[in-house]
Amino acid sequence: MLHIDAKPVDLRLSTPFRISRGVQYTSSNVIVQITYGDITGYGEASPTEYYGESPETALACIALFAGNLGDDPFLIEDILQKLDKILGLNPERAASTSFTIGIDTPGEMAKKALAAKEYPILKIKLGTRHDLEIVKAIREVSTATIRVDANSAWTPKEAIHKINALAPYNIEFVEQPVPAHDLAGLKLVRDNVPLPIISDESSVTVDDIPRLVGHVDGINIKYMKCGGINRALKMIHVARAHNLRVMIGCMIESAIAITAAAHLTPLVDYADLDGNLLIDNDPFVGVTVKNGKLILPDAPGLGVKPRA
Ligand code: MG
Repeated sequence: MLHIDAKPVDLRLSTPFRISRGVQYTSSNVIVQITYGDITGYGEASPTEYYGESPETALACIALFAGNLGDDPFLIEDILQKLDKILGLNPERAASTSFTIGIDTPGEMAKKALAAKEYPILKIKLGTRHDLEIVKAIREVSTATIRVDANSAWTPKEAIHKINALAPYNIEFVEQPVPAHDLAGLKLVRDNVPLPIISDESSVTVDDIPRLVGHVDGINIKYMKCGGINRALKMIHVARAHNLRVMIGCMIESAIAITAAAHLTPLVDYADLDGNLLIDNDPFVGVTVKNGKLILPDAPGLGVKPRA
């Protein structure tokens, strides 16, 4: 008999996490456990208010979809095993993840960058009145690869001005400079700055990709936006068919969803899978990080297990 158990879990951020849209102290996620005989599978949702989601909507969807799973999970197991074989990815080629520095004063952000020196790649959240000062302060203390993310906060004009000013500080790329639906703005920015532009809020599902071609250099894929591993795979293939670079990112998530995403990183150019590194009460263990490099577990399936 198939048993589905979904429960909310509050992941506690080690320090408040600020981006241009606001500040977060916890992430209210939902963990799903599916048991059939002695087989247990785990899944996770990190609902985002920006996308109209909450733990309540996630739980309601699980209740709605649970009836469609049927009584025989073995079909799903077959599909997953087949998928694993099709994936055939080399775990040695798992990407290195960036470590995110949320918005704070330039001095505090430089301090956090210094404290994160075990990570060779930093993702700096911008979208403030002192963006240039932030990057300058971090560059003074860090030689890490730096990526910046404005989370839609800039106007196209402001983005062009700021990105040109940031360019001399050795920035790898800029994520989502302008609002999600301003595709003309994205193109205007891309055509007038020397750094690659990666979409995030503009690239939610596979349908979004074709209209972004020519407007961005690459897309950030997240399981929490697109719906999981199968859909993320489809997005990777569609993006590659359009010559786009691919990044795989995350929300604030436990080791369940982070590990699930890490398994696809041998296929991508950039990984930003640090959601579990930013919390201090992760109920699960899975992927680990060594000098920034994602180390995939070799246990079956996702390879995650509840923390002892
Ligand atoms: Mg982003």
